[in-house]
Amino acid sequence: MKIKAIRARAVAAPMKRPLATSTGTLTETALLLIDLQTDSGIVGRSYLFGIGRHNLKPIAALMAAMAEMLAGDAVAPFELEAKLRKRYTLLGVHNIVLFAMSGIDMAAWDALGQAHKLPLVRLLGGTPRPVRAYNSNGLGIMPLRPLVKEAVELVREGFGAVKLRLGRASARDDLGALRAVKKSIGPTIVLMVDFNQGLTVAEAIRRGRMIDEEGGVTWIEEPARADDFAGNARIARDVATPIQIGENFMGPEQMAQALAAGACDYAMPDVQRIGGVTGWMRAAALAQAAGMEMSSHLFPELSCHLLAVTPTCHWLEYVDWAAPILREPLRLKDGHVLIPERPGSGMQWDEKAVRRFQI
Ligand SMILES: [Mg+2]
Repeated sequence: MKIKAIRARAVAAPMKRPLATSTGTLTETALLLIDLQTDSGIVGRSYLFGIGRHNLKPIAALMAAMAEMLAGDAVAPFELEAKLRKRYTLLGVHNIVLFAMSGIDMAAWDALGQAHKLPLVRLLGGTPRPVRAYNSNGLGIMPLRPLVKEAVELVREGFGAVKLRLGRASARDDLGALRAVKKSIGPTIVLMVDFNQGLTVAEAIRRGRMIDEEGGVTWIEEPARADDFAGNARIARDVATPIQIGENFMGPEQMAQALAAGACDYAMPDVQRIGGVTGWMRAAALAQAAGMEMSSHLFPELSCHLLAVTPTCHWLEYVDWAAPILREPLRLKDGHVLIPERPGSGMQWDEKAVRRFQI
C-alpha cells in the first residue's frame, strides 16, 4: 500500500461549552482534517487541533510540502517518520513541523488498521477494553454560580472525574472555586486541576501547598511554564499533590529530558505533539521504565486505543470537541470510553457537517 496524496481540510465547529483558561478562551474547535489517500483505495484519517483557526493554514502548508516528499512511499509509519525527521533536521522537528508529521503518522496507522481489518488497539497488540476517562469539557475560569452548575452537569453525564481550570489573579479566588466545585460534586468524584502554565515557580509552590492543605485533588496540571523542567522539578519536590505535565512534550526526546529532570509525578503526552502513534508508543515505554502513570491529552478518539496498550495507563482526557464532524462519535459507559471495534482508529467524517463547518 503506497501513499497517493494527502488532503487537509480546515474546519471550525462551535464548542458546546466554551472554555476559559489562564491563557485565553476557546469558543470553537479549529481542526485540520487529514485524508491520507493510498493506491489501494483505503483512506487513512486523522485530525490535528489548531487551537485557533489562524494556525490551520501554516500547518496545512507544511502538510502539503510533506505530502509531496512522501508521494509513492509505502504506508510504513516508522519509515515515513525516519524520512521526514531527516528532511527536517536542520529546520527542527518541533512545534508545527512535528504536528504535521504526527498528523501523517496517525493517518498512516489508521490506513494500516483498515488494510488489516483491525481496530488500531488490536493492530498494536492489545484488545479493546473500556478506558477510564474524566470529563474535561468546561469547568473553565468563570464565576462560581455557573461553575458549580456546570460541575454537577458534567458529573451527571456519567463521569466519576472532572477537571477544574485554575490560575485566577488571586490564590484566594482559586481556592474559592476549588472549594465550591468540591462541595458541589461530593467526595467520591475524582478532581484534577489545571493551571495551563499560568504561574511563576514561586507562586506555583505557594498555591500548590494551599491545594495540599485543602486536599482532595488528584493532580495539579501545568502549574508553571511547561518547558521549564528545572522549575517544575522544584514544584514537584515542594508540593505533595502530584504534578502532572506532558501535553507540551515535543516528542519522546523532550519527555525523556523532563523525566530525567524530575519535572513531574505524572505524564500526559498529547498524540499530536509526541509524534503520533509512533511517538506515543515510545513515550509509553519511557513512562513504563520510570514507573510513572501516563494519561492522554485531548484526541480521545485515538488516545483510547493508545492508552489500552500503555503499561502505566492512568486517565483518558475526554472532550467532545471533534464530535460535531464525526459520523460516529465516541461511546461512553460508566465513566469509561468504549474503544470502537471498527478498523483503524474508527474515525469517519460526517461529510455534511464538514461542509457546514469548513473554513
Ligand atoms: Mg492541560
